[in-house]
Amino acid sequence: MSTQARRPRGKDYIWRVGLAALVVLPTVAFAAELPRFKPGFNLFSQEQDIQVGREGVAQVEKEVTLLRDPAVERYVSDLGRRLAGLAPGNTDYPWTFKVVNSRDINAFALPGGFIYVNRGVLEAAEDEAQLAGVMAHEIGHVTMRHGTHQASQMMLAQMPLAILGGVLGKGSSVTGQLAQLGISFGVNSLLLKNSRGAESQADEVGTYTLYQAGYDPKAMVQFFGIIEKKYPQQGLQFFSDHPNPENRIKKVDQLISQLGPQQQGRTDSPEFQAAKKRLLALPPPPKTKPAGQPSGSGSSGPAVNPPAPSSQLVKYQGDGFVIAYPNNWEVQQSKDGVTLAPPGGVFSGAQAYGASLSNYVPPQESWGLIDATKQLLDSLRQSNPNLRVVKQTSLKIKGRAALSTLLENDSPLPGQKETDRLITVRTKDAMLALVFVAPQAAFEAYRATFDRMLKSLELR
Ligand SMILES: [Zn+2]
Repeated sequence: MSTQARRPRGKDYIWRVGLAALVVLPTVAFAAELPRFKPGFNLFSQEQDIQVGREGVAQVEKEVTLLRDPAVERYVSDLGRRLAGLAPGNTDYPWTFKVVNSRDINAFALPGGFIYVNRGVLEAAEDEAQLAGVMAHEIGHVTMRHGTHQASQMMLAQMPLAILGGVLGKGSSVTGQLAQLGISFGVNSLLLKNSRGAESQADEVGTYTLYQAGYDPKAMVQFFGIIEKKYPQQGLQFFSDHPNPENRIKKVDQLISQLGPQQQGRTDSPEFQAAKKRLLALPPPPKTKPAGQPSGSGSSGPAVNPPAPSSQLVKYQGDGFVIAYPNNWEVQQSKDGVTLAPPGGVFSGAQAYGASLSNYVPPQESWGLIDATKQLLDSLRQSNPNLRVVKQTSLKIKGRAALSTLLENDSPLPGQKETDRLITVRTKDAMLALVFVAPQAAFEAYRATFDRMLKSLELR
């Protein structure tokens, strides 16, 4: 769960189609309406997308190891540029396409046209059309501006008045503004977590671009299916950053039927097979994490089975509270609070196991615990669209009135649900929000530890 209202992940939004436009291109006439290839609500300018993307490049390249092989680099870059030139929408970006030396099957795009494809994608793709499908999908995230759309929605939720005052106006550093909101720029950045709505749109752009480039337009979804079935472990991060939209295949098939007869339906090229052969002959990627990647920040692999919580508790002194936690857990401090999690308990930037505490200041001056908790839940729901309240009870913490809210949510672990127990209690000038989280199947095993932690909680 993304517990801090300021750090949502996977924010979903409704893609409003509005009036359907009839897109008519010189070479192709469409029998039916095409989906609108139009970016959503955005507070950033296109130049700011590039500025944000450049900041991301600097951070990401501290965290990943790039593949240095001029032949493969050139091949991927040429292919990417060719596809970007054929994508719908405004494609006026300084496109760069780089290969990450990792066998995880993943690809991601920073705002402004900076695209990274893992070596694992090239090794797993059966032909050029499948690789092109992944790249065209990433291009879709750029041209539809999904990263800054996501950040814009969060800003609007967090500081509507500041936005009216023009926080993103000239003279202010847009990256500084994002940092203030707690948005980081590395591989776990919110800018890379796509909602299912964004995914669907990137699918449409990807499929359309494949078609325009003369590839079999089915190749993109075909490859997603291969990743899911053949490489479930290597593909975990991909499906975490690019969650499967509902009816993915059906929607893409619908679009393909609207595109008309296939132009060439090309699938492969000798260049692709040569690049793949080169990669398979190269030494394996480095196993150890490169320096600069913080441990316990969640970038490490899937939190499938973190070690059991130690029965030895140690104290953590926070801003206005003290809590005890198992001594084999890791502490990750943030601007607004702290995450306490077993090693590997944070997956893909969101917490799958452990506890987090943050001070929440409700927007209104006079408020009660129930209202403030409701407001917090509303703001959490923006980043956790499937969050559901199961039960709410009141309790006392060291004599103070508190609320315990049991929640069900999507786990950051693909395909899993999680249980969250949110404890809210008023402090001197804010509300402390303590969340215990574990996948549904594991929550019982953590209950005793969570209870001990709650019992240890002291407030200022
Ligand atoms: Zn995607």
